[in-house]
Amino acid sequence: MTKDFNYFDTLLPQIIGSKTSAIAPSITPSAAFGYEDAFEAESIFEGKIQKPFYARMGNPTNAKLESVMAKIDGGFGAIATSSGMGAISMALTALLKSGDKVLCIGGFFGGTYALMNETLPRFSIESIFCEVDDFETMEKELKDGVGVVLCESVGNPNLKLPDLRKISSLCEKYNTIFIIDNTATPLVVAPLEIGADIAIYSTTKNISGHSASLGGIAVFSEVKKECKLFDQKYRHLRKIVDKAGKGAFIAVCKKRSLRDFGMSANAFGSFLTLLGLETLSLRMRKVLQSVEQIAASLDKELPKGFVRHPSLTSHEHHARYKESYPLGCGSLITLDFGDKQNAYRFLNSSELITQTANIGDNRTLALHMKSTIYRDFDEKSLKILGITDSLIRLSVGLENPSDIIDDILNAYSNSIK
Ligand SMILES: *Cc1c(COP(=O)(O)O)cnc(C)c1O
Repeated sequence: MTKDFNYFDTLLPQIIGSKTSAIAPSITPSAAFGYEDAFEAESIFEGKIQKPFYARMGNPTNAKLESVMAKIDGGFGAIATSSGMGAISMALTALLKSGDKVLCIGGFFGGTYALMNETLPRFSIESIFCEVDDFETMEKELKDGVGVVLCESVGNPNLKLPDLRKISSLCEKYNTIFIIDNTATPLVVAPLEIGADIAIYSTTKNISGHSASLGGIAVFSEVKKECKLFDQKYRHLRKIVDKAGKGAFIAVCKKRSLRDFGMSANAFGSFLTLLGLETLSLRMRKVLQSVEQIAASLDKELPKGFVRHPSLTSHEHHARYKESYPLGCGSLITLDFGDKQNAYRFLNSSELITQTANIGDNRTLALHMKSTIYRDFDEKSLKILGITDSLIRLSVGLENPSDIIDDILNAYSNSIK
């Protein structure tokens, strides 16, 4: 990892604000944009002139957000979307066609799991779910020609850590597009540096931090000559890829998905996201420090095995955490007291925690998993995702970590009957 928090501390406030005239990013609340004349209209639609032409396909406020996120991840460009799910579905529906398969590695956020397990199969795009360290299955499926490999930088909520470099080199070997959902670890995991082709974010989470704006973004690597996209299995994309050159991922996503499905971001949402993004480095630094402190204190005070986090030696990926996640792995910790009633009493006894289906907020959040996000899932899926009857997901916020620890220990002692 070449870029650290010191780099981002300076970069973010400097590139988001403007030094002259209006300092805050401007909001362009227009759905349509006029053209000078018929010639300009033609050139814009041809792609010879880069100007906004209709907000479903782009907007100046979204463009600002896209350029900042591309800079953060060292990407060629980005496309902002209406939500994190919008970004995932944009990338997958653009790259895949009926009959293709997706290799899904590790744990998944509920919405993504349902997309892969229920919705895409309705369009004959199947998913193969594979344990995070099952390299044998990965290699077999890659050899068999899966269209895309998808994984989360850290499993939400199972907190398993994939070996991203190893998966990336397997994808390279088999010319297969690798997408990392980096929602939980902006700034601390650099998907494109690791070799992924696309980084996906739900900007609703840490990037905004304020829970005021639903949004997502996909950041794309530069497409080089003779790269993966020229593999036979992507021949259905070839016409667009040949014409678009370095920006081929953007062209493929716009022409095959954004234009026709319309999961576009809106200017006001992107403005709110940019306001959050300005302070992301500062907030991530604080949250990651607090997470380790809270996990360690709770692990000491509570019975063995009740607290799960990769910074604890009891976690199966502790060594990988130390080696590959030196800055941390996001805001999540999970708690499992082994009994659903205890879990409910705990949540209802806390004075500090906000119970909601979100993560990466400035406030500390928690939720009982099985009765909410994962309520419609069958036993097999729950097992794959690591959801038990009593699992609580905690997303650490910006509060004083000692206050969070005190509140949790208090709520715990009130909950055990
Ligand atoms: C929340 C989340 C999503 C979906 O994002 P939305 O903005 O809610 O659509 C996708 N992936 C992960 C890891 C998430 O946490």
